[in-house]
Amino acid sequence: MQGTTIFTTMSALAQEHNAINLGQGFPDFPMSPVLMEAVNQAMRSGFNQYAPMAGWLPLREVLAEKIDYLYGQSVHPDTEITITPGGTYAIYTAFTSILRPGDEVLVLEPAYDSYVPNILASHAKPVLISLNQPYFSIPWEEIQAAVNERTRAIIINTPHNPSGTIWSAADMQKLQQLVVSNELYVISDEVYEHLVYDGETHQSVLRYPDLFQRSFACFSFGKTFHCTGWKIGYCVAPKELMQGFRKIHQYNCFSVHTPSQVGIAEYLKDRSSYLELASFLQEKRDYFIELMRLTRFNLLPSKGSYFCCAGYEAISELPDLDFALHLTREHGVATIPVSAFYQDAQPSPYIRFCFAKKKETLEAAVEKLRKV
Ligand code: GLN
Repeated sequence: MQGTTIFTTMSALAQEHNAINLGQGFPDFPMSPVLMEAVNQAMRSGFNQYAPMAGWLPLREVLAEKIDYLYGQSVHPDTEITITPGGTYAIYTAFTSILRPGDEVLVLEPAYDSYVPNILASHAKPVLISLNQPYFSIPWEEIQAAVNERTRAIIINTPHNPSGTIWSAADMQKLQQLVVSNELYVISDEVYEHLVYDGETHQSVLRYPDLFQRSFACFSFGKTFHCTGWKIGYCVAPKELMQGFRKIHQYNCFSVHTPSQVGIAEYLKDRSSYLELASFLQEKRDYFIELMRLTRFNLLPSKGSYFCCAGYEAISELPDLDFALHLTREHGVATIPVSAFYQDAQPSPYIRFCFAKKKETLEAAVEKLRKV
């Protein structure tokens, strides 16, 4: 486990070298002024004291309505949704609520860097399984072979950080079968749920009733509404699982920033607040791909999220961390080395680019990358 997250390291280095930051996943374009005004309005209207422990009820209600509309799943706003200070916190809390010392959790690598430390914090054991190379498909046979009587849960992530791949309906069917027949729990990291491109469909665990019965689905308003600094998200789980989740949450955070919840509840009433996100971000992905043709980087396909990975075998033989440090220091562009998403050595070297940026930022970055 690294002492400092790669995101902190690369953003600090980007600042030190005045580099363009395509590393840490955050947008550099403005968020919606309508949402900003809705939160300001909530503050002015006096919504400044504690929200209920589970979250502002009208927000949970509008989320239940959204889940029904998008995924055809009816969830109870009172008992099955909890507002959290961000998606990462929701994942941590879900793990903490189900894991006992010695339990095993299946983790598919490359994996977001908080999962393994979260599992270890509960004295449970991460069982690491590599996604297939080169396009990060799901190794179902290895997953099945790794299940034993100590296996308690699996963590999945679609759209996937760092690769930008997405799970198919067939993958979800296989997951459902695995989970139901082995009585596993699922932690489902869906923070990029609205960022799915090329007309594809987001495969939420919420679409699959038997799967949902054993799942914690974790979401992020920060990623959805281009305000990662707000640190607000939510968890959806069936009532019995949510009871355990709230036992942890009530003594940890208790409740989340009230005016943000009031403002977001108002903003979400208009479905275009989330339905238009995919085409907006897809345009950025497509522009980035087009610009990168001018470079010697070899982009892998990205179907969702803020990210696109690239091979650099035509440029350098350095390990990816060294190459990413070199790119930042010598060429003024920060990225994330994909090895940071593996506990041990990664099978082949890639770096991750965040394309959720203004056109000018992407153009300026590629101008530098052309000279690499
Ligand atoms: N989720 C963001 C990413 O993958 C980073 C969040 C963080 O900095 N911890 O870039």
